[in-house]
This record gives sequence, C-alpha cells and structure tokens, in this order.
Amino acid sequence: MIIVLKPTATEADAQEILADIERLGLKPLHMPGVERVVIGALGDERVLRELNLASHPAVESLKPILTPYKLVGRELHPHDSVVNVGNVPIGGQRFAVIAGPCAVETPEQLLAAAQAVKANGAHLMRGGAFKPRSSPYSFQGHGEDGLKMLKSVSERTGLPVVSEIVDGHDVDLMEPYVAAYQVGARNMHNFTLLKALGQTRKPVILKRGLAATIEEFLLAAEYIVAAGNENVILCERGIRTFETATRNTLDLNAVAFIKWKSHLPVLVDPSHGTGVRELVTPLARAAAAVGADGIIVEVHPDPRKALSDGHQSLYPHEFAALMASIKPFVEAAGKVLA
Ligand code: PEP
Ligand code: MN
Repeated sequence: MIIVLKPTATEADAQEILADIERLGLKPLHMPGVERVVIGALGDERVLRELNLASHPAVESLKPILTPYKLVGRELHPHDSVVNVGNVPIGGQRFAVIAGPCAVETPEQLLAAAQAVKANGAHLMRGGAFKPRSSPYSFQGHGEDGLKMLKSVSERTGLPVVSEIVDGHDVDLMEPYVAAYQVGARNMHNFTLLKALGQTRKPVILKRGLAATIEEFLLAAEYIVAAGNENVILCERGIRTFETATRNTLDLNAVAFIKWKSHLPVLVDPSHGTGVRELVTPLARAAAAVGADGIIVEVHPDPRKALSDGHQSLYPHEFAALMASIKPFVEAAGKVLA
C-alpha cells in the first residue's frame, strides 16, 4: 500500500503509522518528499484494514500496490535507478559496455582480452572464475585463482570487474576481487543465493533464468532488494523457446516491458542470447535501439582456443567493429556511449 500523508502531517504522525505497519507484520518504508511524506507498507495489505487509514486525520490518500514486485516496480519508485559499478554508472543516460571472455583461463588470455576491450571503449570487464557448466565434465573455472587474475588485470587496465557467484557462501570471498557480482541464468531461482546477496551493498547483475517469465525475473530481483541490497541490475540473456537455430531466443520484448514496469537498469547479453558469433553485433545494436542500459559481450583473444563459449565469443577486431557501429543505435534511443 502507498500511503500519502497530508502536507500538514507531522513527523510524529508518520512515526505512529510506521510503527503500526511494523506491528502488523508488514515492512514499513519511509519516503519523505519535499511537499509530502509517502509511506509504503509491504506485505499482505489486508491486515491494514485494522488501522482504518482512510479516515486517519494525517492521511491524504491510499493506493494499493498492484504489482507483486513492489520494491523493484515503478509504483513506489517512478524514477530510473542508476547503479554504480566501481566508477561506472549503469542506468540513466549512459549506455554501458561490459566485455571480456566467458571464463578466466590464463593471465595472458585475460590480459589480452581486457586490453582489447579497453582499447575499444568497454567500461567494465567480465570473466567467470566459477563456471556453472551444463556438463560436470566441462571446464568449471579456476575459482579463487581466477579471481586473483581478474584483480591483477583490473589493476593493470583500470577496468572494474564483473564475475559470477554460484554459492551464497562465496559473497565475502569474492568481495575484494569484484566490482559487481553476476548471478547466472542457472541460479536466478536460487533464493538462498539471492538473499545472501541482499546482505551486501555491492551491485548484483541478475541474469534472467533459462525459462523464467518476466514476473519471476522481477520477483528474483525483489528477493535481493527486500533483503537490503537495492543495487540490482537486470540482464536479459535469452530464453528457451521452440526455436533451435539459435542457442536461445533473445527476448527484446522483455527489455521494453521491464523498462516500463521497473526502475532498475536493464542490460542485454547478445552472446548467450544468440549463441552465434555472427548474430552478436546485430542483436547488440537491437538492444541499444530498444532502450537497454548496456550490453555484456563475450570477447576472446583467440575464440578457437576458448575453454567455454568460443563459438559465440567475438574476436577483438569484431568487438572493435561492434563498438564502431553501435553508437547511432545508442543515440537513437536517447543515450550516450561515453
Ligand atoms: C556467462 O555469462 O558466461 C553465463 C554463464 O551466462 P548465463 O548465466 O546467462 O548462461
Ligand atoms: Mn559464457
């Protein structure tokens, strides 16, 4: 419920209502504005009947929150959120580019990838140290050794690092190495992991599950925010459909829909979204045109030798061409590729 107080309401009125909301087992939110104080009550709104807020002398109006994703929706929070990853703002006017290999393989591979993406204007680097692979026999990542390689290349290039977390117990272990945690598609429904990430204030890039509806995706984000971390960035990375020509079907409807319904920044991953190197650049441009806040792209110095996702990784010269051609699409959507 959104409770708007009258301009004449006092701080004591607000505190009394907030305490009542808490007593009834709902989560109270205090949002003082310039002219009016707005109070949120999150949870089962039916219990609020007992307070008879409609006839409370300090209350101007009441509005139920209709969406199930109350904190990440625009009803309580109409303006776009901007989330800072290291020194890079994601959301708002800027279009952010995160690029790098699927997995951290060797110090040389990582440095070559990072230097190539930095030289062509990427703002952040990516690289998985913990790799949740479909097969238990595939390369699983270098773990903490991979994080150390990320940190050293980050210091050398000045690019902040985004890397995937697969276990809630690793939040503290990863904290000194990354500027943002990535939650992969396979873990979008891992509510224990989401709640653990609610305990930190470091940004979380949450990828959409392989077969998750938009509502399930937004509710997964709600888990992190409700647990205390509002620095969440969403990432559309393609979903399973009947189509088999491409690895996934990149759902650009979801980008426009989420931008409409949620204030959180939205990225697009055209690498996993298509699974086909030749399609990455066209879909990156489409993502910019539809109004995404940025892209996350796989780039490898020698994709033929990649230990994972080589078939969808761009060669450095292809990434350079992507960056050179995406600008008009970014600007058409009213953003800047700074
Ligand atoms: C990745 O980013 O390398 C990855 C595993 O992505 P997803 O979780 O979207 O499959
Ligand atoms: Mn990958």
